[in-house]
Amino acid sequence: MKEIGMEEKKHSLDFVRQMVADDCASGKYSGRVVTRFPPEPNGYLHIGHAKSICLNFGIAQEFGGVCHLRFDDTNPTKEDQEYIDSIIEDVRWLGFDWKDKLFYASDYFEQLYAYAVQMIKAGKAYVCDLTAEEIRSHRGTLTEAGKESPSRHRSMEENLSMFEKMRQGEYKDGEKVLRAKGDMASPNVNMRDPVMYRILHAEHHRTGNKWCIYPMYDWAHGQSDSIEKITHSICTLEFENHRPLYDWFVEQLGIYHPQQIEFARLNLTHTVMSKRKLLQLVEEKIVDGWDDPRMPTISGLRRRGYTPESLRDFAHRIGVAKVDNVIEVELLEHCLREDLNKRALRVMAVINPLKVIIDNYPDGAGESLEAVNNPEDEKAGVRSVPFSKEIYIERDDFMENPPKDFFRLAPGREVRLRYAYFLKCERVVKDPQTGEIVELHCTYDPASRGGNSPDGRKVKSTIHWVSALHAIEREVRVFEHLFEELDPLKDAAASQDFIKRVNPKSLTILKGCKMEPSVAEAKPGVPYQFERLGYFSLDPRLAKQGQNIFNRAVSLKSSKK
Ligand code: ATP
Ligand code: MG
Repeated sequence: MKEIGMEEKKHSLDFVRQMVADDCASGKYSGRVVTRFPPEPNGYLHIGHAKSICLNFGIAQEFGGVCHLRFDDTNPTKEDQEYIDSIIEDVRWLGFDWKDKLFYASDYFEQLYAYAVQMIKAGKAYVCDLTAEEIRSHRGTLTEAGKESPSRHRSMEENLSMFEKMRQGEYKDGEKVLRAKGDMASPNVNMRDPVMYRILHAEHHRTGNKWCIYPMYDWAHGQSDSIEKITHSICTLEFENHRPLYDWFVEQLGIYHPQQIEFARLNLTHTVMSKRKLLQLVEEKIVDGWDDPRMPTISGLRRRGYTPESLRDFAHRIGVAKVDNVIEVELLEHCLREDLNKRALRVMAVINPLKVIIDNYPDGAGESLEAVNNPEDEKAGVRSVPFSKEIYIERDDFMENPPKDFFRLAPGREVRLRYAYFLKCERVVKDPQTGEIVELHCTYDPASRGGNSPDGRKVKSTIHWVSALHAIEREVRVFEHLFEELDPLKDAAASQDFIKRVNPKSLTILKGCKMEPSVAEAKPGVPYQFERLGYFSLDPRLAKQGQNIFNRAVSLKSSKK
């Protein structure tokens, strides 16, 4: 992974920033820069949204402008206050501030209605009797023109009165829609009399039962941008074909005209990002909620131990392009390691313990040894770690019959205990029934205190350990990718039953892990490096419920070959 130097960063603007810079230079919006992040509150935000947030809020910051947070709440059947609250929390946590510019598309329902009336009066919109199915079949294809609706030639007066009746609730769901009078022969299907309003007798989380007609995305979005005097309306590539409609609506109405700009959405390996799919994982209880640490949601990443800095760094490194691509999740992990390496305190913890008895060590309370808190940060200082006759080491660090390339502990072999002593394995004790190794008997070299060789003799490895007498015990959760495949939705069939292919090893729960006593002071949100094992922090949600459980955010090295 190549680092981009500061100089390069300053001079190479991505194409969106270049457009904004050009508009500022030409005075197109009198130098104003107003962007917006417009989530629909129908799910939690994910890492793809983080890219969009960093882009929109980032541009506003860099160009001395502002970024609005606008809830695109036009579909009451799918939306919820819980989602609004989570989105607000996530954007704040990422480190962005919308000041007093918090808006809801539902605040504009009255204005949007008035604009629709204006469209009808101008002969540019009509109430249509066709069913959803008929509208689809009339729409034509990419190569074939559509067919006009029989309702298209209704008089303006009749349209006005029927639209009013739609609003008054005189029709059932689906009985009528308001459509724009576009061009049924347009090569752009979006221009073929798109639906502007549909009837939905559903309670809205903000407007209650005031409305039973709701604006469609294409109608609500551009007009909301216009009302807020957005300068650059940045969205993902799939809306490129909607831009002519976006432009057409504001031109027909003769209102302020923002510029829509499209960029490539973020796709990430080994996960799914569509809110519908994420919702399915939550509803079918495949994961422990939207904030499950395996989810690509911002709240899931936060719970897992990701930092806002690492996500912003990730967004910066992937950049902004005009062509769809897939980013390897390993880059995201790399950004987290880089960040945590600088600030995480190092401690020793044994997640798969094997008891070691040091036969020649004196019985009793043991001693204190000095350990470095963070070799990357001198100011972090040192701490003392207790040592005693019985310790735990990682089961993986011992092999009874080691292959050639295994350099850690084995019968008759010596290793270094980090910050402590040289340790030699003398004897293996097994369970007579199962043959499982239950403990090791070892000797230590008192002259090697601090882990220094007393006579120049070398050991081939250094392992971590925890004093059995002083250890605290905690549960640890270790995660793997939610899906083993690079793209769990690679085709329609895979997409259908993606749930079946969730990685059964994506969550491993390790109980009875042994940790040095300093870990007892851990707080949620404070990262530790468990030496040789990775970066861990307390699960914030479980901590609120009084459970001290550590999540591994990321291992120390990429598992990718
Ligand atoms: P859905 O899954 O319902 O289609 P969505 O992902 O489009 O939802 P929105 O709430 O409409 O969700 O998205 C808010 C903003 O985030 C939009 O401007 C959208 O373009 C952007 N966005 C969504 N997904 C991504 C992504 N993967 N990469 C970059 N931006 C994204
Ligand atoms: Mg959307």
